[in-house]
Amino acid sequence: MKMKKIMAAVLAGAMAVSMCGCGDSKAAATTSAAAGSSTAAAASTAAASTAAGEGTSKAIADGVLTVGTNAEFPPFEYVDDNGDPDGFDIALIKAIGEKMGVKVEVQNMEFDSLVSSIGNKIDVAIAGMTITDERKETVDFSDPYYEALQYVIVPSGSAIKSAADLSGKNIGTQLGTTGDLIVQDLASKDSTVTDSPYDTAALAVQDLLNGKIDCVIIDKNPAEVLSAQYTGKLSALDGKAFDFGAEDYAIAMPKGDTALQTQINKALADLKADGTFDALVKQYIEGSDSAAASDSTAASTSAAASTAAETTTAAK
Ligand code: GLN
Repeated sequence: MKMKKIMAAVLAGAMAVSMCGCGDSKAAATTSAAAGSSTAAAASTAAASTAAGEGTSKAIADGVLTVGTNAEFPPFEYVDDNGDPDGFDIALIKAIGEKMGVKVEVQNMEFDSLVSSIGNKIDVAIAGMTITDERKETVDFSDPYYEALQYVIVPSGSAIKSAADLSGKNIGTQLGTTGDLIVQDLASKDSTVTDSPYDTAALAVQDLLNGKIDCVIIDKNPAEVLSAQYTGKLSALDGKAFDFGAEDYAIAMPKGDTALQTQINKALADLKADGTFDALVKQYIEGSDSAAASDSTAASTSAAASTAAETTTAAK
């Protein structure tokens, strides 16, 4: 998908979630991975044989893997032109589901609700989610599939260049993310630092453009996609200059469901071995940060974004 389309989809998604405001937009966001009747047919046989071979996972006993995401995190997940979640993670989990022989249904919800919804509303979550010790108390993770780092989005010409420059700053983050945790930690050590968590990174970026906050700390790839939309106004700074450590994305799943974990890890390994994983990286991730959206789409969608921004304010 082209940059232009990704941004339009992202902003439409931001609006949809803002307007809903409930994190349970099931009907609008549910999509199915069954690409055709051959997939569906393969599904039942494969599910039966895998289950017999490797123990059963209650989560997929019905032949459906219900996946939670937060489609506000391009290029990993965003809402496409048809209103369906798309992006690297969505394509990856659909490919994993196909290998496992189960149907994949994606539900779009708030990032902050994902972990607590695993095992009840959803079976697993894929959302550019970093493995953290705190999350590991509640859920298990698959093998890591992508290495990430927090980046800092600043207005062009900002004096913010390294960790020391964050002192005295009001920093936008996305609620419940590792960026939010990093800034909470900074604020606990330096009372002049303020953490301003927003429901979505796009809303934080709007307030950055409006001058309400000094910078936004979010993961590298979304930082690059979002700042590329405002070339000349915003830049994304490498988190290494801020001493941020590497993070690993993985799929979160119910604690103790080793049958499910084994199947997901096997599918992931197979997709890496057969080249599908690399093809998805090329399709969705590489190139998504280099194209500047300096065309009419950026102008028209930024109007939509500010409307969305008005409906949500920073949590503090
Ligand atoms: N990687 C970050 C985290 O896990 C952000 C994920 C996201 O916003 N989707 O907290």
